[in-house]
Amino acid sequence: MKDKAVIIYSGGLDSTVLLTQCRKEYDEVIALNFDYGSKHNRKEREAARKITELLNIPYYEYDIPTICRGGEPHKFVHTVDFLRSDLLESGGEIPTEEYNAENMEKTIVPFRNGIMLSLGAGFTESIGFGRIAIANHAGDHTIYPDCRPGFIKSCRETIKRGTDKRIVLHAPFQYLTKAEIVKLGSEIGAPLELTWSCYKGEEYHCGMCATCRERKEAFNSAGVFDPTVYNSTK
Ligand SMILES: [Zn+2]
Repeated sequence: MKDKAVIIYSGGLDSTVLLTQCRKEYDEVIALNFDYGSKHNRKEREAARKITELLNIPYYEYDIPTICRGGEPHKFVHTVDFLRSDLLESGGEIPTEEYNAENMEKTIVPFRNGIMLSLGAGFTESIGFGRIAIANHAGDHTIYPDCRPGFIKSCRETIKRGTDKRIVLHAPFQYLTKAEIVKLGSEIGAPLELTWSCYKGEEYHCGMCATCRERKEAFNSAGVFDPTVYNSTK
C-alpha cells in the first residue's frame, strides 16, 4: 500500500507526465491547479480539465491572481504588482526569441514554485494526504532558482518539518531533461497531445516563444512525434 499524493498540476507537458506516472505509482492522486495570473493560465486550464477527465483524476482549481495582478493602492501609494513578470497579464510582451539569459529572466515569476508548494503543502495536510509532487526538471535549473535541486532539498525539509503528518515532497524529474520527460511520457502513455506549453495563451501554440521552441526541441531530441499544432506550421 503506497501513499496518496497531491500533484501540482498546470496542464503542461512536464506535470502531465508526472500526473500519469504518479497515477500508476500511488493509490490515490489529486491534481491541484493554481491560476497565478499568467497569460496562458486559461489555455493551461482547458488542457488540465480535459486531461484529468480523461485520466479520471480528481482535479481542483484555486485562484491566486488577486495578489498576483496588483494590489489596491492605499492613499498616496502607487499600485505595485505583487509579482512582476512578463509571464503575467500585468507584464509586458512575451519574448519570441530562443531562450537566452535576458528573455528567460523576463518570464520568471518570482518564487512561483515556492508559493505553489507552500499553498500546496497546506492543502495536502488539510486533505490528509502524505505526499506532494512537483514536475521541475533539469532544463529549468539555469534560470529558475526555485527549480534547482538545492531549493527542492531545503523545501522538502521545510515541508516535512512544517506539517503534522511530515508530508514528503516528491520531485522525480529534477535531474531529467525535457526530452527525457517527453520520452518517458510517450512510454507510459501520457496524453502529450492534450498538454499546453505556449506562454502566449492564444488559440494555438505560437511556435515562436521560448517555451514553444523548447517543446519542439524536446520532442525532436526524444525522437517522439510532436502532435502539437503550432501557429507557424498550420
Ligand atoms: Zn509559444
